[in-house]
Amino acid sequence: MSGQSGEDGPRQASCPSAPPEPGATLFGIVTAPGQVAYLNPGVPATQDLIESFAQEGVPIENRLRFAGPCMEHRCVQWAGEPGAGRCGLVDRALDALKITEGPETLPNCAIRATCRWYAQHKRHACAACPEVIRKPPPG
Ligand code: SF4
Repeated sequence: MSGQSGEDGPRQASCPSAPPEPGATLFGIVTAPGQVAYLNPGVPATQDLIESFAQEGVPIENRLRFAGPCMEHRCVQWAGEPGAGRCGLVDRALDALKITEGPETLPNCAIRATCRWYAQHKRHACAACPEVIRKPPPG
């Protein structure tokens, strides 16, 4: 499955664990371990914005969540064949966290309509989502 279809044709699926780079969308701020304040609408990431976070000492990859196009088989997390696979990262996250149910109220997330993880696991994905950070803080 590669996103949703509509009158305008297939939509590009979004990866909710994309690198912080121009063209990505800032859609969440990690406020505490396992807690994300979702931004809706998301904020387009520009080089200036990313550099300003870095200059202010914000640990970008463990405090901010960015979305970008799902790279499918071009991503190391992809499980399966080109055009017929799934994101292995969210599958493993749900297993590791032993997620058996989703939140009663879904977060006000800017990318749900195209989210790869939501497409695979619906609200269960949203239960695991706040636990996922690209780069754990040094411990
Ligand atoms: S898993 Fe849920 S909360 Fe996380 S990005 Fe996807 S739709 Fe949003």
